[in-house]
Amino acid sequence: MAHPFDPDTEAQGLIDFVDSSPTPFHACVRAAALLSEAGLTEVDESDAFPTEPGAHFLIRGGSLIAWDTRGAYAAGSAPAAGFRVVGAHTDSPNLRIKPNPDRLKAGWQTLGVEVYGGPLLNSWLDRDLGLAGRVAVRGGAGRVESRLFHDTAPLLRVAQLAIHLDREQNEGLTLNRQQHLEPLWGLGDSPGDVRGYLSEQIRVPAADILGWDVMTHPVEPSRRLGRRSELIAAPRLDNLATSYAGVRAFVEATRSELRHVPVLVLFDHEEVGSTSERGAMSTLLPSVLERIVLAGGGTRDDYWRALSSTVIASGDMAHATHPNYADRHEPLHHIAVNAGPVLKVNANLRYATDSLGAAAFQLACEQAGVPMQSFVVRTDLPSGSTVGPMTSALTGATTVDFGAPVLSMHSARELCGAEDPAMYAAALSAFLAPLP
Ligand code: ZN
Repeated sequence: MAHPFDPDTEAQGLIDFVDSSPTPFHACVRAAALLSEAGLTEVDESDAFPTEPGAHFLIRGGSLIAWDTRGAYAAGSAPAAGFRVVGAHTDSPNLRIKPNPDRLKAGWQTLGVEVYGGPLLNSWLDRDLGLAGRVAVRGGAGRVESRLFHDTAPLLRVAQLAIHLDREQNEGLTLNRQQHLEPLWGLGDSPGDVRGYLSEQIRVPAADILGWDVMTHPVEPSRRLGRRSELIAAPRLDNLATSYAGVRAFVEATRSELRHVPVLVLFDHEEVGSTSERGAMSTLLPSVLERIVLAGGGTRDDYWRALSSTVIASGDMAHATHPNYADRHEPLHHIAVNAGPVLKVNANLRYATDSLGAAAFQLACEQAGVPMQSFVVRTDLPSGSTVGPMTSALTGATTVDFGAPVLSMHSARELCGAEDPAMYAAALSAFLAPLP
């Protein structure tokens, strides 16, 4: 094996990462912990950027960006060789709690939820769900503080109607988002009390809770599956699998001889269009790249020069060929599990890949000694998209879209290969630190 990533270690690492990251906020905290262990230090966006060569990260809500200038700044100059950027997203489709959620219906306490992104709604039925998220609370002197919580207890269930009460359900389930998705979480003759629940979770008086970003997650732990445990069953593989592989790749790359500035960027809000203060359409990536150059003594012109030799790899999951629906896949582009990372191509630029980006990714896979597959969607089906086209447009950098194979994308519990996380991390690491 040409790379240092052990398949079983990375499979377990992914499982741990997913289970400790029920929300984008937690994914950033977990990524930050792994980066800190590797010696990176956190920078606050409101502080001046470090002028000495070093490895750092910053967090903006549910997004995180990390970089290492030690190689490129060793000579004390702007990064003439440009940046190598790996991008991914931290958010996944789920059900999110409304501001006034408490209802009482037929003696059941239920919660009003909004549908975030595009989940397979049926996959959320009859699962034991927990709650997690961020709560804004009153601080001292007019300040607002935020608190994260992660409750792994089974609290909620979106209960399906019994087959006896609607015999047509197996002919095609119809779920009304307003009517049929409210999870129940108790019994009583008055509505439940989300605010009181949150107050207990974060140990802050209910009157000091000013707002929340609270969402549901399936509490069943992730685990290996299959005759030879060759698979991983887990929620949020799209796209925590890339977030995790990106973190592992970045840490490994920082141990290499660096000619470029390696950058890892994990964006929130990909599933809802990326337009926010921290999504891929935001200032996060370009502003940090520019600040890296300026803090290193470079000029704005140096920044644009660095972008001209920058390559971005945008990672998001790819559709493995489904055995029961093989006809939904392009015949000459079948994607196998445990067979290496997947290059994603779309002529209409739903993926940003062009031949130059594809070449950079192929070279990375060759350097890592892992096989590479190529995906295009059937010509008569619409393609999904990623953060790739946006980061490409905002920076003018050559960009390649790629992913790791997954079944049941956007299900509450997805399925991927147990050998893919190691190959994925190896390819990304080689991309971040290419050999001359
Ligand atoms: Zn995705």
